[in-house]
Amino acid sequence: MSLIVQKYGGTSVGDVARIHNVAARVAACRARGDDLVVVVSAMAGETNRLLGLAAEMCSDADEREKDVLVATGEQVTVALLAIALKAAGCPAVSFLGHQVRIATDSAFGKARITSIDDSRIGAALAAGKVVVVAGFQGVDADDNMLAAAMHADGCEIYTDVEGVFTSDPRICPHARKLERISYDEMLELASLGAKVLQIRSVEFAKRYGVPLHVRSTFTDTEGTRVVEEEASMEDVLVSGVTYDRDEAKITLVRVPDQPGLAARVFGPIADANISVDMIIQNASADGTTDLTFTVPKADFRRALGLVEAHARDLGATGVRTDADVAKVSIVGLGMRSHAGVAAKMFRALADVGINIQMISTSEIKTSVVVDAKYVELAVRVLHDAFLGGGEGRG
Ligand code: ADP
Ligand code: MG
Repeated sequence: MSLIVQKYGGTSVGDVARIHNVAARVAACRARGDDLVVVVSAMAGETNRLLGLAAEMCSDADEREKDVLVATGEQVTVALLAIALKAAGCPAVSFLGHQVRIATDSAFGKARITSIDDSRIGAALAAGKVVVVAGFQGVDADDNMLAAAMHADGCEIYTDVEGVFTSDPRICPHARKLERISYDEMLELASLGAKVLQIRSVEFAKRYGVPLHVRSTFTDTEGTRVVEEEASMEDVLVSGVTYDRDEAKITLVRVPDQPGLAARVFGPIADANISVDMIIQNASADGTTDLTFTVPKADFRRALGLVEAHARDLGATGVRTDADVAKVSIVGLGMRSHAGVAAKMFRALADVGINIQMISTSEIKTSVVVDAKYVELAVRVLHDAFLGGGEGRG
């Protein structure tokens, strides 16, 4: 008998019929003899609706109270799922996040699980019940934290697509499902815009070696396994193409190029907890330089305020902004050992006349910032260039 953690996303529990469908799946799985802990999201759209209410109430709503508000969405779905399970003759019990506290040392990206209060879950499982748990307030990696903390044998993530695709199937008609992908590639894909898994979720899975299986709530098709890297994975240049519309660009124009410039610009932004993504600084010919960087759209106004407040002190002639930009990225372990991948990317974009505004590279990814109106074209062109012909894993 194994312990399986299952997570059902918002679309999977979007209405009463879908919750019935989830209950049927869960009951069938339980009937095969596994112990099950099920984490469910709020119904699709509900979290945004609640955050909208908070925003109507106050433009800068208190974070703690927003957590309390948003938690009501998950409270509804755990209760409804437990009701459906019991009605179907499958013993079940729902818990709210605070009833199964998991403590972490919270540094983002490095968080480790320090303790879990799983006595309630353990007792319920021992009594033969399916345990249905609401997301933990303010934590976005509930499923995998739970799987890791409880030493589960596996974690299944149910969503509205059949797995992790080579690109977002909604905008890329040639995207195809990957059979396997490494944790590191999945981390990059998630960080670079692939919504199908959350970054923290993958981080926990990787850190604690929890195998993930991403699959559809609506079919029985085998999904995508997120696993430790395998030797053959490096043979594939690019395993995914992603995009992120959630970036905005800020440029400090003609600022004197002196030691400490970057520290003075980015210090206050970091202090305000805004994460800067890409940065470019031009080589200066006349002692001044343009410094351009991107931030998440949600933090754009705040970042701009900070930059404008310091622009004059820094000696800049002005501040330019562009919120109509998007980041398009290619990800693949093969980029470590093969030269020319980035050049091929730039050529493919040039061939369709897309101008590249910024570039950043790391070991297994290359990202470019382009005009937002070209994002879908860029994704398709890059997919065709690297994955279109049926090469690649999957
Ligand atoms: P859920 O409601 O299950 O949490 P999400 O909407 O958060 O689902 O995430 C699933 C969606 O992620 C898919 O419908 C798909 O449009 C999108 N997506 C983006 N990139 C990818 C990708 N590379 N593979 C699969 N899905 C992707
Ligand atoms: Mg989701």
